[in-house]
Amino acid sequence: MAESAAPPGSAAAARAAADAPESAVRDPADGDGLARGPAAGIASSKQGVEEPGRPDLSVVVPLYNEEASLPHLIEQLLGALRPLPQSFELVLVDDGSRDGTPALLRDQAERVPELVAVLLRRNYGQTAAMAAGFDVSRGAVIVTLDGDLQNDPADIPLLLRRLEEGSLDLVSGWRHQRQDAALSRLLPSLLANRLIGSVTGVKLHDYGCSLKAYRRELVSDLNLYGELHRFLPALAFIEGARIGEIQVNHHPRRYGKSKYGIDRTFRVLMDLLTIWFMKRFLTRPMHGFGFLGLLCLGFGLATALWLVGEKLLLGSDIGNRPLLLMAVLSILSGVQLFCFGLLGELQMRTYHESQGRPIYRVRATLRGRHTSGDGSTTATAAVLPR
Ligand code: UDP
Ligand code: MG
Repeated sequence: MAESAAPPGSAAAARAAADAPESAVRDPADGDGLARGPAAGIASSKQGVEEPGRPDLSVVVPLYNEEASLPHLIEQLLGALRPLPQSFELVLVDDGSRDGTPALLRDQAERVPELVAVLLRRNYGQTAAMAAGFDVSRGAVIVTLDGDLQNDPADIPLLLRRLEEGSLDLVSGWRHQRQDAALSRLLPSLLANRLIGSVTGVKLHDYGCSLKAYRRELVSDLNLYGELHRFLPALAFIEGARIGEIQVNHHPRRYGKSKYGIDRTFRVLMDLLTIWFMKRFLTRPMHGFGFLGLLCLGFGLATALWLVGEKLLLGSDIGNRPLLLMAVLSILSGVQLFCFGLLGELQMRTYHESQGRPIYRVRATLRGRHTSGDGSTTATAAVLPR
């Protein structure tokens, strides 16, 4: 129980295996998602309907040097989750901490039956730690939160209820009374939220809140790199997810200190650019690069022609004209942009075809009723989510 990190390379297979059997049960389009009580769509394995040993809910928490918060975190999570009808597991990922976090996790894994402790070999960053947690988790719904007690585990049932009632794929927390420094945190965050909203097209108040609930099939479709954990709703949106938001509590950091400074603003901007490009041109990079290439090439050729005309008709000396430099640069840039576009097209095909990633996502496939040979009607309104 203590060390259950999947070996590298097996993560995708483990995810695929974990996905297959349960998706039909949870498809929101099967009509019973809304009819049942709050969060009842995932409250099944305690009632023996789902695959035995597989929890309804996985709570994934990345931890980097959080030894002081960890005992309280586990206590609060157990306090919030044990009264729920859903079965659950706590996937706590140590992201190469240098303090007592790994030792504490080893110790707690012996005592807490719901705990799955994943100890990473070194510090990979919050995104990778979350990805490791996703890969190991088995729940039909995955909830993420920070390990520094800034998020409130008592909000988890509210997220689950919203997920079910709204037939959503992702519910994001909104720290409406955020307890962080005004100038270094709240202001950049306010601007970032506005910018992210307009660039990605996902309208949320708070993208930076780690407290979120996801359906497993959505998480399986998301590939995380760099620090893209901040853009999970945007990535989910690209995958066609239905996204909702609820107000959640937020507390000041009690122990330790934040792992991020103001420098993250720059990284967020760069990531935003990546997301913008992916959203617009993921399956058609040539449309982006090709258009720019055409503009550059057109401008360069026209300028060059003009200069040639001047030289031939008027006999002007064009060797030292800045316009000549501009024409040459534009033609070269245009050719390069075209080549980028072509390479992008090849890369995009490799990306999709090597992983068997379709360029679309199916929410449900509904087949009509068949009439069997003996005249009786069999209800085969099959719901095939993927
Ligand atoms: N974290 C992590 N690896 C890192 C940095 C952070 O696992 O390299 C974890 C950290 O322990 C915390 C969460 O990510 O549980 C959010 O980090 P932090 O509280 O420092 O971010 P902030 O709340 O200041 O945005
Ligand atoms: Mg924090």
